[in-house]
Amino acid sequence: MAILYNCKHDGDQYRITKFNENLEVESSYLCTETECECPAGVRPMCRHREMLPRFIARDEVGSGWMYDYDRGGWVQMFEDDPPPLPEGVVAVSLEYPKELYNAIANALCETVIPDEPEAVTGVASSLNSEESEPVVTQVSTVTTPGPRYKRR
Ligand SMILES: [Zn+2]
Repeated sequence: MAILYNCKHDGDQYRITKFNENLEVESSYLCTETECECPAGVRPMCRHREMLPRFIARDEVGSGWMYDYDRGGWVQMFEDDPPPLPEGVVAVSLEYPKELYNAIANALCETVIPDEPEAVTGVASSLNSEESEPVVTQVSTVTTPGPRYKRR
């Protein structure tokens, strides 16, 4: 069984905690991407600062996932998971504005636009595309019954 690490937010820093094979805490250090309070913190690099960007890149800070440093892989743990979210609620990190925006956009689309008959949405999308592509309009009745009308 491997030695695992998890990472959590701690103020404006991060806390990386090391667990032994019994999932008991062995050590826990505050760090940022440039500083670490561990014994190797005085060195230019330590394993905590090496791991932190991986936690951030995978959005696993404060998640139930732990990093297996020696193997370089991820292990999901459930002990530290937050309570399950209500039905239909999705957790989105505030650290990724684009993801957050898309999540909100998707949520709004899902609630605002009801399921409509295919014919209605088909006409609407073809009208929009003709407005943005005036060239198509001239020949559309003859040559383009095609994909736009049959989409969905
Ligand atoms: Zn360190």
